[in-house]
Amino acid sequence: MRFPKFKILLTVLLPFILGTSCATSNFNAAERQLITAGQKMDTFRVLSIADKQDSIILRKPSKDLKQIKDNKDLAQLLARMKVTMDAEEGIGIAGPQVGINRNIFLFTRIDEPQQKVQVAINPRITAHSDSLVCFERDGCLSIPDIRGNSKRYAWIEVSYYDENGIFIKERFSGHKRPDNFTNIIFQHEYDHINGVLFIDKLCD
Ligand SMILES: [Zn+2]
Repeated sequence: MRFPKFKILLTVLLPFILGTSCATSNFNAAERQLITAGQKMDTFRVLSIADKQDSIILRKPSKDLKQIKDNKDLAQLLARMKVTMDAEEGIGIAGPQVGINRNIFLFTRIDEPQQKVQVAINPRITAHSDSLVCFERDGCLSIPDIRGNSKRYAWIEVSYYDENGIFIKERFSGHKRPDNFTNIIFQHEYDHINGVLFIDKLCD
């Protein structure tokens, strides 16, 4: 009796055990819970620096995500981040702003006609200008009602993975409003995954 019972149990559980280990999302349980608490079209709550618990997450450096391809949780996270960014009328949004301390953000290619929203996973700034510019009227979804000028690199060279796991290298150099500052958006979002906010780098 015992053996067959065990065998049945194993038959039932094995695909589940193997299935979950093969499809491991690389997000921890708390992250998965947050990501799957809503459907793909549901917004996240945007964390605010005004809230003490939120600011701990916003100030915490994020970690890389190992599995990009065939990661359902990642797809769900990215879809919900896009919906959230659009709802907030933002041009960029980073993982920590929705409670996920991962090296993931979206940035709008504001200098291009289509203004495509680009996914950046595990991004790096691989080189940057020595000179800094003072970018006018920076703003942040996590810092409501405050605008300020921020110190930024005049140009950056970057690498990241897109949502399909394609490795991309690019150089960004614009830093002027109204529509030539993809460079600044990338730097702003990159700061987020390092726990840095624009109010840390104000200039006149
Ligand atoms: Zn921000």
